[in-house]
Amino acid sequence: MKKVAVIGAGTMGAGIAQVSALAGYEVILYDVADDVLAQSLDGIRASIDKGVARGKTEADAAEKAKEAFELTTSLETAAQADLIIEAAPEKLELKREIFATLDAAAPDHTILGSNTSSLSVSALAGATQRPERVVGIHFFNPAHIMQLVEIIRGDFTSEATVAAAQEYVANVGKTAVLCKDTPAFIVNRVARPFYGEAFRLLGENATDPATLDKLMRSIGFRMGPFELIDLIGCDVNLAVTQSVYDAYFQEPKYRPHPIQKRMVESGRLGCKTGRGFYDYEYEE
Ligand code: NAD
Repeated sequence: MKKVAVIGAGTMGAGIAQVSALAGYEVILYDVADDVLAQSLDGIRASIDKGVARGKTEADAAEKAKEAFELTTSLETAAQADLIIEAAPEKLELKREIFATLDAAAPDHTILGSNTSSLSVSALAGATQRPERVVGIHFFNPAHIMQLVEIIRGDFTSEATVAAAQEYVANVGKTAVLCKDTPAFIVNRVARPFYGEAFRLLGENATDPATLDKLMRSIGFRMGPFELIDLIGCDVNLAVTQSVYDAYFQEPKYRPHPIQKRMVESGRLGCKTGRGFYDYEYEE
């Protein structure tokens, strides 16, 4: 595989594009608007430069990676890759539409991957005529730092597709864990109570975000739940919570909390909007 396309140039798409370019792949980056793409590429290049400044990336490799991107707002153009990783918003119908369009336009050998946090890879595969070449490739945030990647084998995913996904993950220097196609896979499933109980505590006025985050850090967690939700994006966190809740037919223990909804509806999405549970400096 030489060419990787990334669909959605947001928080995760940018990180996935960055690690792919640094691993030597040519990268097509797709989003719905030119200004989103331009801003995303600026962020990727700045992040690559930071890697050089910190001695983590060779200057030559960085310069090459910074020039490896082709930007497009056409899904048909983005489909001309060996591996496509979709990182669009966490909505099943939207992702299925994207998969159907990519499937119709991509060469036969192209593998369609999704960075979904919780949705069924088999449901995405069902929107295509190549279900055996559909696989989950789930990075964690920030994608250029977090070592783990979940590879999700859907009901139709072939061994060859799993092997190709494993090879790609190894090439970008990450560690893959193979998961079954269950709602939220392994990590996000395990993490549900971490977020859910934190919201319940907040809703009961048992504590405030800063106190709970500090407490969790004091027992060894790298971040507390509210800091992490701000990093993930309150909108993304709510979408994943809702998706797991629905996937388990409204199982009460996965129910989203009204505070989550209020945060999103009031535009407090976290780091990316400059305000969430905490305030952040925001550079346009
Ligand atoms: P984001 O909101 O930061 O980025 C989403 C991007 O998709 C935006 O740039 C947006 O312009 C673009 N987009 C909007 N409509 C689109 C369309 N119709 N087609 C293609 N792109 C479109 O979201 P994110 O945090 O990068 O999440 C993307 C995916 O990655 C989701 O499936 C999410 O569940 C998953 N994920 C998120 C995290 C996280 O911590 N944020 C971690 C792992 C996985």
